[in-house]
Amino acid sequence: MKHWNNIGLEEFLAAYPNIRLSDINADRVELLGEYQLKAQLDGSNLIDRTFYLRIVCTSDYHKKLPTVYDEAGYFPRNQDFHTYADGSFCLGSELRIKSVLNYDSSLTAFFDKVVVRFLYAVSHRIEFGSFPYGELDHGEKGLIDDYAEMFEVNGKASVLLALKALGLRKRDANKRPCPCGCASRLGRCDYRLFLNKFRYIERRRWFRTHLAESFTPLQKPKKRSRRLRRDVVK
Ligand SMILES: [Zn+2]
Repeated sequence: MKHWNNIGLEEFLAAYPNIRLSDINADRVELLGEYQLKAQLDGSNLIDRTFYLRIVCTSDYHKKLPTVYDEAGYFPRNQDFHTYADGSFCLGSELRIKSVLNYDSSLTAFFDKVVVRFLYAVSHRIEFGSFPYGELDHGEKGLIDDYAEMFEVNGKASVLLALKALGLRKRDANKRPCPCGCASRLGRCDYRLFLNKFRYIERRRWFRTHLAESFTPLQKPKKRSRRLRRDVVK
């Protein structure tokens, strides 16, 4: 189907001959098959295993990445192994995946760069008890750590400042405090040039929605005023 050429479907099927099309229509493509991984990272152990996977792509592929399922029951279905109850994988934050796929977002790139890395990391955890890349926390804490690394900043307050800035037009963002910790406005710091690269990955609206839905606001000001008052009473 011509429609699916824009995700590189034929190229993917040629690159992975043991994975075949199991269902295709205008809205959805489902792939099913085996993938053999034989890999070893420096300082970690060899993983040599064949996985049985199902990959589901929808027609809004470039907005919503494919879902990948473990069809063999090898991955324990819980948070510690980043696998949901239905066997689908939690492949990482959307922004990170999209930034990895910024230059090539084909299905082959998604599989090579995101899925293979996941299969190696989680299999390593299953077989040797630890993740080879260092483990991310779950929930908001995990998201904050992930963004802190991507944005090259420290702590929740800086991450929220960066997301807030990305949700604004550049000229408005420039008036706000810089997330890098320089105590200057963003418009006066070279950090803005680095931060603005993320504007090519998602739109302003995405950052605004994400900030509102995935993070609890900082509650610092209240605590500080309570502590101050107590000092005054002494
Ligand atoms: Zn700065």
